[in-house]
Amino acid sequence: MAKKIETLVLNTQQPDEKGFFGAYGGAYLPPNLVEVMQEIAESYVNIKTSATFLEELTMLQQTYTGRPSPIYYAKRLSEAVGGAKIYLKREDLNHTGSHKINHCLGEVLLAKHLGKSKVIAETGAGQHGVALATAAALLGLECDVYMGEVDVLKQAPNVRRMEVLGAKVIPVSRGTRTLKDAVDAAFEAYMTDPVTTMYAIGSVVGPHPFPMMVRDFQSVVGREAREQFITMTGGLPQHILACVGGGSNAMGIFSGFLDDEEVQIYGVEPGGRGPAIGDNAATMAYGKPGIIHGFSCYLLQDADGEALPVYSIASGLDYPGIGPQHCHLRDIERVQYVIATDRDALVAFYNLSRLEGIIPALESSHALGYAIKMASAMKKDETILVNLSGRGDKDMDYVMEHYPLEAFETQKLLVK
Ligand SMILES: *Cc1c(COP(=O)(O)O)cnc(C)c1O
Repeated sequence: MAKKIETLVLNTQQPDEKGFFGAYGGAYLPPNLVEVMQEIAESYVNIKTSATFLEELTMLQQTYTGRPSPIYYAKRLSEAVGGAKIYLKREDLNHTGSHKINHCLGEVLLAKHLGKSKVIAETGAGQHGVALATAAALLGLECDVYMGEVDVLKQAPNVRRMEVLGAKVIPVSRGTRTLKDAVDAAFEAYMTDPVTTMYAIGSVVGPHPFPMMVRDFQSVVGREAREQFITMTGGLPQHILACVGGGSNAMGIFSGFLDDEEVQIYGVEPGGRGPAIGDNAATMAYGKPGIIHGFSCYLLQDADGEALPVYSIASGLDYPGIGPQHCHLRDIERVQYVIATDRDALVAFYNLSRLEGIIPALESSHALGYAIKMASAMKKDETILVNLSGRGDKDMDYVMEHYPLEAFETQKLLVK
């Protein structure tokens, strides 16, 4: 049934031994981190086939996270759109409410098996920090989370969550006091003690082996989805969509279908308010190859290679770079990268809430927003599978305050 693209398998799934996916990735590091990162890479490659490790991870995924997450046919939404059938992979139903727990469990379990006593990370909106603090509490490791002062103030509920979970939140007061400065501070802290601590990156970005490792931990989403979709419908989905910030939830679901050449795959980037600099975070659309945070990728950058300011209504998507495997998949034209604006995301946010009783994260709403547009131009027997990466409870207050439903009264899709 499913045709395999044999030649693509190696190229798309595995980086070379230096961590490159085609021309992207690698490890651009200060000298004192080179060896440490190699050690993590080697231990990971050994452990990823260890039965003890995999059994423990699978057990936690099933009994703690609640895997497998279901695939749901969004019938009322599909009928309102009047085109293709839209299906959702429900990562929003995971413990802690998003796909992030998938890689955090893997990373903290790896740290534990390596004999580390602490994990360190940066966080922007606090979603990665909360998922990591959760996994650290579960497995009995200390957890330090670096967070820009601006974000600490903006994201008070997530700061509280991390503290209740026993993590230490360290406010970063340099630079713009946001995510990029938090990454710098966290890396510096890690460099002072790379022996007893492990850095736990929050997406398929950063130096090798993180893009590969985080992808592997997320790949459970794609494996489940492929099997579930076949069981449910008798075939593969024709189109798969996921939102892309750094690209971890997207790599997770894509990885299950990359070898099925009849499946069309789309990564949806945040188009924000429009194409001007600082109004979006659509790296593939407006970026050029460059280097950020220890790896090479398409990057929104100025003439000197400095990362440009980025914006999206979804704080989990506003990163100026993108995972190296995505860059490669774009170059070999296996995945298409497209844009959904703030408005597209809001339309999806309200529609899914009103038509299906599912409040999606604003990040996930980007994938859904593009799916709604695509579906409306398709035939009723076509199928679209969207990775619903997280739930939207965290976004409700913001949306109701700044984008009340009345503003969308003219949108024809919206049920009143
Ligand atoms: C963090 C986050 C994202 C963006 O991260 P990726 O690595 O691109 O997946 C998407 N959706 C949700 C719900 C998130 O919390």
